Amino acid sequence: MAPVTREECAKRDAEDPLAAFRGEFRLPEGVIYLDGNSLGALPAAVPGRVADLIEREWGEGLIASWNDAGWWDKPRELGAMLAPLLGAAGDEVVVGDGVSANIFKTLVAGLRLNPGRSVLLGEDGNFPTDLYITQGAAEITGAEERRAPARPDALEEALAGGDVAVLLLSHVDYRTGELRDMAAITELAHRHGALVVWDLCHSAGAVPVDLDGCGADFAVGCTYKYLNAGPGAPGFVYAARRHQPHLRQPLSGWHGHARPFDFEPDYRPADGASRLLSGSQPLVADAALEASLRVWSRVDMEQLRTKSLALTDLFITIAAPGGTGPGGLRLVTPAEPERRGSQVSLAHPDGYPIVQALIARGVIGDFRAPDVLRFGFTPLYLGYTEVFDAATALVEVVESGEWRDPRHSRRSQVT
Ligand SMILES: *Cc1c(COP(=O)(O)O)cnc(C)c1O
Repeated sequence: MAPVTREECAKRDAEDPLAAFRGEFRLPEGVIYLDGNSLGALPAAVPGRVADLIEREWGEGLIASWNDAGWWDKPRELGAMLAPLLGAAGDEVVVGDGVSANIFKTLVAGLRLNPGRSVLLGEDGNFPTDLYITQGAAEITGAEERRAPARPDALEEALAGGDVAVLLLSHVDYRTGELRDMAAITELAHRHGALVVWDLCHSAGAVPVDLDGCGADFAVGCTYKYLNAGPGAPGFVYAARRHQPHLRQPLSGWHGHARPFDFEPDYRPADGASRLLSGSQPLVADAALEASLRVWSRVDMEQLRTKSLALTDLFITIAAPGGTGPGGLRLVTPAEPERRGSQVSLAHPDGYPIVQALIARGVIGDFRAPDVLRFGFTPLYLGYTEVFDAATALVEVVESGEWRDPRHSRRSQVT
């Protein structure tokens, strides 16, 4: 590959059709932020929108805002705003609760939609909450939890027994950044009679997603990573329209009831994806998501994907050309663009202090045990020159050994 220069990167920044979005985010001076896959940056419109909710809708509107400010319908309204990013129809997505709770709801709903089958199949190495919630759902329902590697051949083997009710998979692996073929795996699962729950935590806002086009059954995801809605922002959940009339979820709260203000003594599910709601939602956090989704409504996901791949390619070319970098850094993320999310992961036994030394230089990535250095690439607020500088800083940190300074080895609670 031809050597990359900083001048070439500056030229690409000047020609970047997404460059104007940078002005819609607030980032501290001197920071190159490669951790938007863990907590997205602050959209400039969020503080104003949140203040408006607090001061006007709550402070002045008080209880009337449930009607006048559309609070009651906010989970549906935000779901409809999010749907185009997911390849879903507006009535197939609702925003509410967190990823963990929504995994539980969809796994149990899937089990009930697939009677006669009793296995919940997960993937080795998935994000811990996906594994733990599957265990919890199995315990409570009497289902059996199994795991397989997320490779098509291994999944096929695990599905072939004909007893898998639901398969739960991450669309993009949080640790390696590997992007799975949603269409092919969904088809494979369906061929073996299983339903699929896709976890979109690392793909919503990171890559184009086409849930309807892939024939997906269910999906869950968060809004605080690539979707930039802030710490602890609510999750979302998708149910394909064909499943909605028969779907019964276990957290059958009043927000998912057909006639909540009739205060009936017994549960009757609402129509559509609304039945996946449970109780009252954090409307202050919803306001932040709303402001962020207004930015997203103007984003062309194909343009975003093109830039994302160009940024990850650039980073790999400098930090780990051919799959290896200085000091034994090893590329973990697939080199093939079609198998890559918007992330680059590198492995190194001293990954933790290397990431800390980089952070001390203003380049923010993160570390995932046991040895993975993770860098997220968010095309809306990252430029080519920044990525060039970040990759160059990584090479310098490793080659100079500055990460060996003992202060970089002190562990914080969150890595
Ligand atoms: C971030 C992430 C989660 C987070 O779950 P919460 O309930 O929001 O804490 C779950 N699954 C995956 C794959 C993730 O990347």
